[in-house]
Amino acid sequence: MKLGLLATVLASASLLGGCVSTTKTGTLGSERKQFLLMPAAIYQEQSVQAYSQIINTAKSSRKVVTNSQVNRVTARLIPLAKLYREDSAQWKWEVNTIKSDELNAFAVAGGKIVVYTGIIEKLKLTDDELAAIIGHEMAHALREHGRERASMQMVTNLGLKYGAAAAGLGGGEQQIAQLVTNYGLTLPNSRKHESEADLVGLEIMARAGYNPNAAVNVWKKMAAATGNTGKATQFLSTHPAPVTRIEQIQKTIPTVMPYYEAYYKGKAKK
Ligand SMILES: [Zn+2]
Repeated sequence: MKLGLLATVLASASLLGGCVSTTKTGTLGSERKQFLLMPAAIYQEQSVQAYSQIINTAKSSRKVVTNSQVNRVTARLIPLAKLYREDSAQWKWEVNTIKSDELNAFAVAGGKIVVYTGIIEKLKLTDDELAAIIGHEMAHALREHGRERASMQMVTNLGLKYGAAAAGLGGGEQQIAQLVTNYGLTLPNSRKHESEADLVGLEIMARAGYNPNAAVNVWKKMAAATGNTGKATQFLSTHPAPVTRIEQIQKTIPTVMPYYEAYYKGKAKK
């Protein structure tokens, strides 16, 4: 295939157009229309592959561990995902805990989540705080922030005006895999994406019965961890804090508090 996968992608994507919203309206953080040129199926497939590689590497050095706290929290959060986008009910959701000092966690489109033990142990996370982190990560995956950034990079790299005629690209799959690694796992999220993930994440955790106030604690703990070492944690380097992060969260808590309360009222009735 001389034309390369990227050219094929550009050809089909330019016909479909790119500006939509990945998550349903009526939930927090879903208003913005997104630029999504990279087809979802291709991006997701590559994301899942990148995830499998990380898990397999960790497994081969026996670093994949069972963590009941992670399993307990994700079991309550994941059923909420379909409220934001119905197709996520078909995602093969999976969470793995990796034993590592890294203060990090991530999720990719397709419903694959990783939590490193370092973030739980060093920040001494409560269930509510862990839910804030996983909810935030699920939000990035549901809103497909990685695919959006990869889409923008495609345009920057190739120049849309050349479209499918951009021949001789070669190595398409490898290029897409690289975009997935860069924008799904390695490079910092934009502040816009961060503040969206904060909003969506808050709603998810509150609906699952986790106290949204814990989200404020998380960011304070994260900042303190950076203060101790003088160097931003892995998590903060891929999730740059908008200066107004804590303010925005505090402002949003009254909006999501009724979901949190409803969870326990619902439980009491049963
Ligand atoms: Zn983030």
